[in-house]
Amino acid sequence: MLKVDHVTKRYGKTLACDDVSFELQDGSVTVLLGPNGAGKSTIMKSIIGFLKYEGKITAGGYPAKSQQARRMLGYIPEMPALYPNLTAEEHMEFLARAYRNKDYKDKMNELFKKFELDDKGKKFGDELSKGMQQKLNICLGLLNDPSILLLDEPMIGLDPHAIKELKNTIEELRAEGKTLLISTHIIDSVDMLWDRTLIMQRGRIRADITREELEADGRTLEELFFDVTEGLDASAMREEEAEE
Ligand code: ADP
Repeated sequence: MLKVDHVTKRYGKTLACDDVSFELQDGSVTVLLGPNGAGKSTIMKSIIGFLKYEGKITAGGYPAKSQQARRMLGYIPEMPALYPNLTAEEHMEFLARAYRNKDYKDKMNELFKKFELDDKGKKFGDELSKGMQQKLNICLGLLNDPSILLLDEPMIGLDPHAIKELKNTIEELRAEGKTLLISTHIIDSVDMLWDRTLIMQRGRIRADITREELEADGRTLEELFFDVTEGLDASAMREEEAEE
C-alpha cells in the first residue's frame, strides 16, 4: 500500500501541494485528475523522492525514501530525461544495473517490441524523436517490475499505437495486481479501467471517488470534474479557503 500522509510542498511562495493525504490499495488503478498546475507532478515527484516536503509518505509500510520502498516504486516522468550519449539499450542496462537486475535482456526485448523500439536499441538518446523518447521512458519505468508505478501524464506525445499499447499494459499490470497512479489533465484519456479517481486543484484533493461511487452518483466523470473545479462545489471551497 502507498500512503501519502499530510504532504505539503512549497516552491518559495507557491504552495504546490497543500496537506495532501490519500492511500492507494494494492492492485488498484487510481487516476489523479486535475488542471495544469494543480500539483499532480509535485505529489508524484515527492512520492518518488525527488523533492523535499513536509509530511510522510510510505510504501508497503517503509518510508518512501528507504531502499525497500524504492525497490517497490517505479516512475514514468512527464518529460523524458535521457542521456544524449547513451543508446536506448544502454539506458535500460544502466537502470537494470542500478537495481542489480542481471536478467533484464528478455524483458527489455519484450518491452522494445511492444513499444516499437526494437530497431532503435542502438540509437542515442538525442537521436530519438520526442515520442520515441517517451516510449523509452515507459520501457525504463517497467523494466524492473515495480509493484507501485507512478505515471505522470503518460499519454502526452505518444502516437496512437503507443497509446493503445500503454492502455493494454496498464490493464495487464492491474491484472497482475500492481498498484498504479496515473496523472492526467485530459479527462478523455481516462477511458480506461480505473478503480478510483482523485481530483486535484490548487494543491488540494477536491474529490476522491471510486468507480462504483461515480456510477451510483449518476454524474459522468467530466460532469463531476467541472462541478468540483468550476461549479457550485468549487465556489463553496474557494470561500472556505478565503476564510482560512
Ligand atoms: P501539475 O502537474 O498538476 O500540472 P505541478 O505539480 O507541476 O502541477 O505544479 C504545481 C504548482 O507548482 C504550479 O503552480 C507550478 O507553477 C508550481 N511549480 C512546479 N514546479 C515548480 C518549480 N520547480 N519551481 C517553482 N514552482 C513550481
